Amino acid sequence: QGRIEIRGLQKVYASAKTQFEALRDIDLTIAENEFLTILGPSGCGKSTLLRIVAGLEDPTGGELTVDGDAIIGPGADRGMVFQGYTLFPWLTVRENIEYGPKLKGVPTLVRRGLSSHWLKIIRLESFAKSYPKQLSGGMKQRVAIARALANRPKVLLMDEPFGALDAQTKLEMQEMLLEVWEREKTTVLFITHDIDEAIFLSQRIVVMGANPGRIIREFQVELPNERT
Ligand code: ADP
Ligand code: ADP
Repeated sequence: QGRIEIRGLQKVYASAKTQFEALRDIDLTIAENEFLTILGPSGCGKSTLLRIVAGLEDPTGGELTVDGDAIIGPGADRGMVFQGYTLFPWLTVRENIEYGPKLKGVPTLVRRGLSSHWLKIIRLESFAKSYPKQLSGGMKQRVAIARALANRPKVLLMDEPFGALDAQTKLEMQEMLLEVWEREKTTVLFITHDIDEAIFLSQRIVVMGANPGRIIREFQVELPNERT
């Protein structure tokens, strides 16, 4: 579960006077449970690509599927964590995590078990009743990751999720993300312009170039034996 196929993806932003080709001929397959990072300079179309996979924006051409199903609009099969992706400020940390399951009608007690499980993984058990404004930036992103994954998406879409954090917090978050990914075995499509981050996190790195946004390189990252 969680195989993404992108074929001949095109995106042209058009206004009355101008046309801008943001993505040209993107072909990409992301395997089940793969951690793939898209790396590229600012403006090469990374966010556009991710928003299209998220279903937040329509392509002007091409085909996209998750496990063979065409992507039409946002869906619970795709969880999202973005840099400035705000938590619901009027909900507590626990309520934020339970939000998706609650919408789906998961019973209260099951939801409780689920949020407790995630609070433990993100090490915020003592903040269950806190509100987002009482948390640091790193803590908020931990909750955002838990909220996305508590909804059991097949795919986790992350757009520079740690871009606003200081170096130390960023490293802690990257380690936590790998731990969670290894345990949950979800497909991750991660976007960054930070090459160190891409190398640290990914199994595979796809490099994009700008004008027009397109794929120009691809690398497989070798992992030490104990981590596959
Ligand atoms: P990245 O995430 O790699 O920085 P983006 O996907 O945000 O790149 O943007 C790619 C290009 O598309 C940029 O030149 C940007 O200005 C342009 N772009 C993005 N969104 C729009 C839009 N809604 N209308 C017109 N141009 C856009
Ligand atoms: P555990 O306590 O073993 O971690 P969970 O509390 O995660 O178990 O899940 C309990 C039950 O609820 C499981 O049968 C699981 O399939 C179901 N479940 C968990 N999350 C969801 C969800 N987001 N939507 C629907 N069912 C769910």
